[in-house]
Amino acid sequence: MKVWTCRTTKEREKLGSYFADLCKVWAKKMGVNHWDIDVILEFGTDITQDHRELLDGTNGGITNSNPTYERATIHLCALDEDTHWTQREIEEIAAHEVVHILLSPVTNTFSGQGDNFLRDRTVESVVTRTSRALMGWFD
Ligand SMILES: [Zn+2]
Repeated sequence: MKVWTCRTTKEREKLGSYFADLCKVWAKKMGVNHWDIDVILEFGTDITQDHRELLDGTNGGITNSNPTYERATIHLCALDEDTHWTQREIEEIAAHEVVHILLSPVTNTFSGQGDNFLRDRTVESVVTRTSRALMGWFD
């Protein structure tokens, strides 16, 4: 099984490029390909403090969406050179992050309101269930 690694600059470039392509495919499937979507691989010390806090010690994706201007940035964050993802994991991250964009006109409405923990958990749960359903992967 293919495993995506981050040991060398070349491996990170390949991963970043492949992940950006996957995000494009999902953006098209979900009808948000007309959005201006940037995809950035953040590695090691380049990961911002804000993103470190959101990641809470794990590797993964973070997406910021602006539905008004239909702009979004997807960050794939790899904490260090030991970071690796299976093919299935990297595909799931791409689909998951694009679902965040798709649902952002709804989910951004609740941003800053109510209980942060409950809101974030609810949004993550909805996004995960939706992306897995779209991928046909329910475990
Ligand atoms: Zn998420």
